Amino acid sequence: MRRHILSLLSFFIFSIATFAQNIQSPSEFLGYELGTRFTNHYRVVDYYQYLATTSDMIQLEEYGKTNEHRLLQIAYVSTPENLTNLENIRKNHLANAGIGTETASAKKAVVWLSYNVHGNESSSTEASMQTIYELITQKKAWLANTVVIMDPCINPDGRDRYVNWYNQVASVPYNSNQKATEHNEPWPGGRPNHYLFDLNRDWAWATQVETRQRLKVYNKWLPHIHVDFHEQGINEPYYFAPAAEPFHEVITDWQRDFQIQIGKNHAGYFDKEGWLYFTRERFDLFYPSYGDTYPTFNGAIGMTYEQAGHGMAGLGIINDEGDLLTLKDRIAHHHTTGMSTVEISSKNADKLNTEFKKFFSKNDFTYKSYVLEGNRYRIHKLTNLLERHDIRYGITYETVKGFDYNTGKQTSRKVKNALVVSTNQPKGNMVKVLFEPDAKLSDSLTYDITAWSIPYAYGLNTIASKTIVAKEDDNVGLGIPLGIPNKTNAVAYIADWKNVKDASFLGQLLQAGVRVRFTEKAITHKGKTFDRGSLIITRSDNKKLTNFDDTVFDIALTNFTELSSISSGFSENGVDFGSPDVKEIKMPKVAVLSGEVSSSLSFGELWYFFEQELKFPVTNINADDFDKNTLNAFNVLIIPNGNYKSLLNEDKLKSLKNWVSRGGKVIAMGNALKTFEDKKGFGLKKKETDKDDPLEVISYAKSERERVSNFITGAIFKTKVDNTHPLAFGYDDSYFTLKLGNSAYSYLDKGYTVSYLEDNKAVSGFAGHKAVEKIKNTLVFGEYRIGNGSMIYMVDNPMFRAFWENGKLFFANAIFLVNNNAFEL
Ligand SMILES: [Zn+2]
Repeated sequence: MRRHILSLLSFFIFSIATFAQNIQSPSEFLGYELGTRFTNHYRVVDYYQYLATTSDMIQLEEYGKTNEHRLLQIAYVSTPENLTNLENIRKNHLANAGIGTETASAKKAVVWLSYNVHGNESSSTEASMQTIYELITQKKAWLANTVVIMDPCINPDGRDRYVNWYNQVASVPYNSNQKATEHNEPWPGGRPNHYLFDLNRDWAWATQVETRQRLKVYNKWLPHIHVDFHEQGINEPYYFAPAAEPFHEVITDWQRDFQIQIGKNHAGYFDKEGWLYFTRERFDLFYPSYGDTYPTFNGAIGMTYEQAGHGMAGLGIINDEGDLLTLKDRIAHHHTTGMSTVEISSKNADKLNTEFKKFFSKNDFTYKSYVLEGNRYRIHKLTNLLERHDIRYGITYETVKGFDYNTGKQTSRKVKNALVVSTNQPKGNMVKVLFEPDAKLSDSLTYDITAWSIPYAYGLNTIASKTIVAKEDDNVGLGIPLGIPNKTNAVAYIADWKNVKDASFLGQLLQAGVRVRFTEKAITHKGKTFDRGSLIITRSDNKKLTNFDDTVFDIALTNFTELSSISSGFSENGVDFGSPDVKEIKMPKVAVLSGEVSSSLSFGELWYFFEQELKFPVTNINADDFDKNTLNAFNVLIIPNGNYKSLLNEDKLKSLKNWVSRGGKVIAMGNALKTFEDKKGFGLKKKETDKDDPLEVISYAKSERERVSNFITGAIFKTKVDNTHPLAFGYDDSYFTLKLGNSAYSYLDKGYTVSYLEDNKAVSGFAGHKAVEKIKNTLVFGEYRIGNGSMIYMVDNPMFRAFWENGKLFFANAIFLVNNNAFEL
């Protein structure tokens, strides 16, 4: 924690009594009335810093920077006495969660208010300034037993993207016509962060820098109450707690009840003003990666508040009912619920403490330990994630009995060096939520994916045990082997090809000018078998490199690669290095399509993957700039999920096909496949469904529920894999895929069907009965050759939210290994 230096100074310079009178309101400080302009993030930072230097009721703590180098910070708001004693209050609070030991200080209510996670839902950051100002001037009494932690802007890059754009195009005075430019944000909009990730889907996976830094301070506090402020469409007035079903089963009766109390407190204020609102609809508490569920599964009353507005509303807009909705209104509503939340929490501080303690003493979990084995790097990556959530783990060598994720059956086996994660710890509820095979769903109408179980996502052999498995806390065995040979006269070095880090090793070798080959058949050297896909780096290929060994070793070290040193190209088993099955990997020159035709989320996932995970160059090309000459500089084109029917017209499809036949490679993902389906020469056929289904009469009231039978809302299926094809090198003969929709394509009859669905039963999550019928015997991943080049079809998206760790190697295979020799461009 870093108390602002100036606030310390000011503490000595001014007497406490003079503070309140001298504090400027947001409007006074900013020089304009709040709600008449959007405030740039740096000015919000200025105001908070001004308050911290002027008031002894605020302490600031910087917790990080965004991708675009904007400041992330929280403000602690409480009485001077509490702030002086803050560390003791925190420790005493965490003792209730079973973390550390009690201190002498009294228990306080801890309320955390998070603003503007979606950058273009921008009224809430403005409201935060009014709220913090009133808390320290008019509502000090509430703070005697309460610590309020305010994060004025979770997503500053997104917020400024919106605000900068709005300020450039807005009319003076503002124009309230919905069609006016100022109400129609250009792609990709201000909602996501720099890499176009939705930060309100990232709490559990913590892939983004904002989330990672925030979790450190969040888990240091584990508040009683967490509010995530949002905005929805301009026609829906206001939404607050209680939330909608389904609720995850770890949510306690108390957590449900207090949501109702909070909602009623808000309703009192809204009724008095005649403001409309709704509750208990739409926003459920199931998927664990939201700003309401994540806090809830960590003991808080976690809530989403939604104000009408959003990127469309600007300073003022006429909604569909003909009413004017202004930024001032939106600020007033979010300010009211923020204040009301602090009020009701302060009134219930004791009860919050006792119930919080009960939440953490729960121990009625069906599965008590999860035991995971598999690729060391993936285990390492998982332990990193566990540490971000303060989840404890250990290592075990026991015989473990329980549910086997891979077979779906009971098993018993002796494990060695296995990772064990148990529920008998403060984060036991989170362990259950993240690891259990199939989360119990009380209602199929949900807002998001219904399956995410980590053993499937990480592709680890896992057993869920109903008893606690003994563990050693010494985690040495979980480390990644760093086998760098010390001999420098090797004929070649060989590295396994098992996970995405091996691909980043390869990508960096290629960038350093190292020539690399891969084997399409297993080979054995010195008694060790290297599977298909293993990388072979020979000295003779790299004669021109002056520091060959050091270059390879350095890149291996940064990528946790285990290298084997080989003294002869003559293999004990399998092919020799000179075999035609040992192929040189040519440098991929990769372009990714973006712009309005692309899903910003899908494009962002790819952009993030190349820059932050693979560390391999990629050229992002806006579809507006895509013409027939664009591809001349590239040999791989990635088409993210999106709608390309207008972009890729007959003419452009023809030149694309021509480019592919000369040796280009297209990787098409998700809905991008619709561009190629049933088009001559692309080999992709939509699966015919039974057209003779008799029409059913469905009542109006039931129509929403009936539609669900056609849906798959993020469920996990077990697919078969042809791992003799380079697209599946590094995989076993099965793969668990996360299906996000019901798109169905036939097996590629003139191409290679590499991952496919024979069994259509979801192993986890919700899949409607009609959708399930449709996807039986369909393609998941495949390759179709056109001339020298390839079309690679990915029906499911292995890059989804960057958390489906086990799918990423398919994508890396597509870039580096599939038909790599084709590049003649
Ligand atoms: Zn939102």
